[in-house]
Amino acid sequence: MQMQSNSTCYDVVIIGTGVAGLATAIYLAEAAASKNQPISILLASKAGASDTNTSWAQGGIAAVASNEDSFEAHIEDTLDAGAEQNDLQIVRKVIEAAPEAMQDLIRWGIDLDKKEDGTYDLVKEGGHQFSRIWHKADMTGNTLQATLMHRVNQFPCIICKENLAIVQIEKDHESIFHIQAIHNNGVDPSYINLTPENSIQMHCKHLVLATGGLGMVYAKTTNQSIATGDGIFFANQLGARIKDLSFVQFHPTGLYESNQSSTYLITEALRGAGAILRNEQGVDFMPQYDTRASLAPRDIVSRAIMSEIKKSTIQHVFLDATVLSRSTIQQHFPNIQLACSQKLGIDISKQWIPVIPVEHYACGGIQVDTFGKALGVDALYAIGEVASTGLHGANRLASNSLIEGIVFAKWGASKMIEALKEEGLLPNLNFNFNPISIKKIDRAFVQHTLSNYAGIEKTTAGLKTGLNELTKVYDEASILTNWTLEDWENNVLCQVGMILFKDALSQTENKGVFFNVDLEKI
Ligand SMILES: Cc1cc2nc3c(=O)[nH]c(=O)nc-3n(C[C@H](O)[C@H](O)[C@H](O)COP(=O)(O)OP(=O)(O)OC[C@H]3O[C@@H](n4cnc5c(N)ncnc54)[C@H](O)[C@@H]3O)c2cc1C
Repeated sequence: MQMQSNSTCYDVVIIGTGVAGLATAIYLAEAAASKNQPISILLASKAGASDTNTSWAQGGIAAVASNEDSFEAHIEDTLDAGAEQNDLQIVRKVIEAAPEAMQDLIRWGIDLDKKEDGTYDLVKEGGHQFSRIWHKADMTGNTLQATLMHRVNQFPCIICKENLAIVQIEKDHESIFHIQAIHNNGVDPSYINLTPENSIQMHCKHLVLATGGLGMVYAKTTNQSIATGDGIFFANQLGARIKDLSFVQFHPTGLYESNQSSTYLITEALRGAGAILRNEQGVDFMPQYDTRASLAPRDIVSRAIMSEIKKSTIQHVFLDATVLSRSTIQQHFPNIQLACSQKLGIDISKQWIPVIPVEHYACGGIQVDTFGKALGVDALYAIGEVASTGLHGANRLASNSLIEGIVFAKWGASKMIEALKEEGLLPNLNFNFNPISIKKIDRAFVQHTLSNYAGIEKTTAGLKTGLNELTKVYDEASILTNWTLEDWENNVLCQVGMILFKDALSQTENKGVFFNVDLEKI
């Protein structure tokens, strides 16, 4: 489909308005202002600007801040969770930069919980030896999102466009990115067609993929519906390297609702505060699996829960928060209390919460260097969950992802500002995009294929079956003459699913979140 449409040039286009995209825009604008350097930045989100996974982060942001804690201890915990598959240089760099990033957030006006003595109320989460999680009750992400959006709005050089779904990116021989988007005016994606009237074209010198996770490739996830792996799809098309896409973290405690695919998350902080996992018989089973019991890293807890579920007559285990005082629940977990009451009619101060592991976080992604630059494609950056920076290794430590998004945003912005100083303005451009070919793909089929064959426990035969099924479905699907944004996303999900299966089949060892029963455990 060839489009004639609005066409605009920017220095930097940032796809995504979660922590990674917003922080990148702010650091770019601040650096440009301090150098008196003109800059034009476009920030795009395919839904509303706040419809991000960032908004839903509950636990908090990890950064060392007390005398009893140390960088070494945070590094040790990160490596331990990541099965020592992390890049030690990056781990150290991120963890040492984290306190300064927290000061940036404070400078931008973030309102986090404090103790009566006025110091910040740091809490502990699964896998952390010390209390180092900065938070705002159980809705840290919401506060973070609002703070960053407020700061973004203070810079006229940042144009923020909501409901602008990027559907095509091409790069020419002069290293300019050409981007095609659908403006959907906030209408349900299933009803949006790409037409000349709603198509927008953009051109830029530096492109930032801050598109978040890929949870929607699975049937049950804690992610928002925007998390369809679009950044992985674009990066793969542009020739960037994708690393460890099958290192998918399953959160041990999604709220169990038998008919729901989108799952409400019960934060680790509840276990940090003392809540206990119990099986069908009421037994506190985690000490049998790990000395850290309910606070062991997520992969260990998720596999232990699946093992208990296999032995039981029910499809979930329980999280017992009745051991906490009513005031602790009300003060620290008001949203979880409300959600459990509204969704299941239970009072968590009196009744156990049914929980099950669900897809939660992509530890792998677009491989980047120490500035967040994608390997293999010049001037392309990947920041936030979409990136594989080396911080998480084979499993992400709780609350390490928001901080990763902020510090890489700062480093990426510094690199882009440096490069932009040398570059002139882009001329007004007209670019002929290649036709987009979209096939008729059934989303539920893709999601069930991934859930059945690329879940917590994989087998080599299952992975091969999954890959063959997706390949066959994709190859045999008919091309749509008219397609919607939802159709486009279904194609992306199918292709990202295939990349994930191929990555899983290429793994030769079990490590962290990756577990194939046919491989030896290291
Ligand atoms: C329920 C939940 C709780 C969590 N709790 C924590 C926590 O306590 N601490 C922690 O550190 N981490 C937590 N995480 C993980 C963390 O929230 C995410 O990893 C992080 O927010 C990702 O930020 P991001 O900016 O990379 O992506 P997101 O915040 O997901 O934003 C993605 C953006 O990309 C846009 N986008 C995607 N594709 C396109 C496209 N084609 N065109 C235009 N725009 C597009 C979306 O519209 C959106 O604006 C949690 C995650 C979930 C789901």
